[in-house]
Amino acid sequence: MKAENEMRLVFPAKSINESFARTAAAVFAALLDPTVEELSDLKTAVSEAVTNAIVHGYRDTVGDVFLQMAVLPGRRLRIRVRDKGVGIADIAKAREPLFTTGGEERAGLGFAVMESCMDRVRVRSRVGGGTTVTLEKQISGK
Ligand code: ATP
Ligand code: MG
Repeated sequence: MKAENEMRLVFPAKSINESFARTAAAVFAALLDPTVEELSDLKTAVSEAVTNAIVHGYRDTVGDVFLQMAVLPGRRLRIRVRDKGVGIADIAKAREPLFTTGGEERAGLGFAVMESCMDRVRVRSRVGGGTTVTLEKQISGK
């Protein structure tokens, strides 16, 4: 589908950039005049996806995180968060609530949160090749 507007950002996988990515996503989405709740939902989802790229995708390394956003016809917002990190062996398992490889620090709820905040969550991943999470949300506007 042809995008009506787009943006791309690349930043290093450092935890300080979680808030940068969340805010940048909100500023772009604000062009669509979303409701406060829509804005808050997409910030939360972007934050979860970017955190995953940083803490799981790149684990002990610092690679690039790619944030891509597009406005599709009909006020549909598409957000892609991509890393070139370790990848996910079993995507279905990873998406199950409470599944985590992050030990006691992690709840295993990131994907569940993304699903509850967005209309659609797609995950593509290859072990050793990285992960792309695509999030979509219909923006109703005020
Ligand atoms: P929480 O998000 O609650 O802090 P979590 O990150 O472990 O915990 P999810 O976000 O649901 O939970 O992710 C589940 C699991 O999927 C992770 O523990 C990890 O094994 C895997 N995973 C998620 N994103 C990536 C990624 N970008 N690269 C590699 N593995 C990932
Ligand atoms: Mg997570």
